[in-house]
Amino acid sequence: MDFAFVSGNPALDLAGTVGSRRDEPVDLLAAPADLERWVAACDDLPDRVTADFATFESALSLREAIYQLALDRVLARPFDAGSLRTVNDTAAGPVPTIKLSDAGLRISGDLRAVLSHIARSGITVLADPRAHLRECGRTGCTRIYLDRSRGARRTWCGMDECGNRVKAAAYRARRRASTTAEGRGSEGTTWRGGRSNGPS
Ligand SMILES: [Zn+2]
Repeated sequence: MDFAFVSGNPALDLAGTVGSRRDEPVDLLAAPADLERWVAACDDLPDRVTADFATFESALSLREAIYQLALDRVLARPFDAGSLRTVNDTAAGPVPTIKLSDAGLRISGDLRAVLSHIARSGITVLADPRAHLRECGRTGCTRIYLDRSRGARRTWCGMDECGNRVKAAAYRARRRASTTAEGRGSEGTTWRGGRSNGPS
């Protein structure tokens, strides 16, 4: 499965590498190599980092701490103390270096620095009282994103990821319902597995 960067913040995108958290969690970061791919794919991070097992474990702890704090924000309750510690400790580490050139901004650093950068970025958004953090409207998605839309009325984490899936499912359900109703409507005929009686 491809990584999605739709949360509007790298820390929230990292938390989003686990989907369906309340039903059957799907973890896209199963091994250090997955984390290396994720960092390379994320726009604001260095192109190449190496993940050893210890740093990979730290990344997963940071991810879960960020998710917990983001959920606390969504539910408007106090932050979980242990998660605060994890995020704050990670943010205190060395950070990547950035360099400006005609080619734009170049960010470099090892994975420890990347995690520190992600933790700082997460703190910035979690501390912002004007930031609208929301959970995706698709049942089971559980991704938390930063809603920057006018009036903060965005419903889905991403159209490709969830919005279109929900709309397609609703369309199929409507079609099924109207076909079933037609089947029942015509003089007691019973539903004949998928064939509709009239033009549809
Ligand atoms: Zn979603």
